[in-house]
Amino acid sequence: MGVSARAASRHASQCEACHLRIRTSTGFNKIDALRRKAYAAANFMSELLNSLIELIRRTSAEIPGDVHKVILASLENEKQGSLAANALKIVDQNIALAKNKSQPICQDTGSILFYVDVPVGYDQITFAETAREAVTLATKKGYLRQNSVDSLTGKNDGTNVGPGAPAFHFHQHRSAEVSVKLVLKGGGCENVGAQYSLPDDALHANRDLDGCRKAILDAVLQAQGKGCGPGVLGVCIGGDRATGYELSKTQLLRLLDDRNPEPKLDALEQDILKTANELGIGPMGFGGKTTLLGVKICAANRVPASYFVSISYMCWAFRRQGVLLNGVSKIEKWIY
Ligand code: SF4
Repeated sequence: MGVSARAASRHASQCEACHLRIRTSTGFNKIDALRRKAYAAANFMSELLNSLIELIRRTSAEIPGDVHKVILASLENEKQGSLAANALKIVDQNIALAKNKSQPICQDTGSILFYVDVPVGYDQITFAETAREAVTLATKKGYLRQNSVDSLTGKNDGTNVGPGAPAFHFHQHRSAEVSVKLVLKGGGCENVGAQYSLPDDALHANRDLDGCRKAILDAVLQAQGKGCGPGVLGVCIGGDRATGYELSKTQLLRLLDDRNPEPKLDALEQDILKTANELGIGPMGFGGKTTLLGVKICAANRVPASYFVSISYMCWAFRRQGVLLNGVSKIEKWIY
């Protein structure tokens, strides 16, 4: 018997608790295991809760760097003293104030959209429950304005939580990584989103990329002066009506300065950005060179009978953040 084993044995012979433990060791092991499991689950949830509250706070109060960079470049590009330049200056001041005071960039909380990539077997139910609690607590703390109402009664219970709110988009992958992206999608810009079914006789838009171009530029024209521009377009060509809109929103998760790996779509993105900014609509519709900050397009398979072009419009208050979770609950890295 080694020294430590002898010491343990001596201790056990003097200690009633240890005697009990030895006599019923199997039962104790089971209880210990259950306790350990419960403790780990509680720890996991409280750590995840804190991580999600911080993700919500930062998403609501801070414009991502890639978006801010394009706003500043657009301000440089506008004629000094013009309405467009003044509008962008106010936008920039608003961004700084919100960040410094850790307060919402806009009074419109918007739709709260979670995009969560998880390993196979991850407990999505617990995640969703914890995220709902995080939204409620973040709203209480003032990180989010109380903005979600019951669609039938118009009642606002002050939590920002209800049927379909927040919305979750879970994707499983074969990696241990958990990534959580959050988008707060303003209502004003959501109202100017549009879906076209090609061909469209009024636009002379056929079922081809030129037809898509006409539809997208028409959406920009229709949105002028509304939706708090300058904006960013997320577009999906194809899909059905529901997946088309859903995929168009996932395009808003891309960095503004990335390039589309599909050359035809990349060319379309650059063309629409350039053409829209030559329309003279400008920030808030005041005129100027900055109508759009970015255009992101994807394509999805469709059935031969349908050809949808779905367009989601994001306002200048482009609130999007994301985190990689370490040990699946603690923030390890910010994505944007
Ligand atoms: S559209 Fe955007 S900027 Fe305008 S009120 Fe809504 S969230 Fe705010």
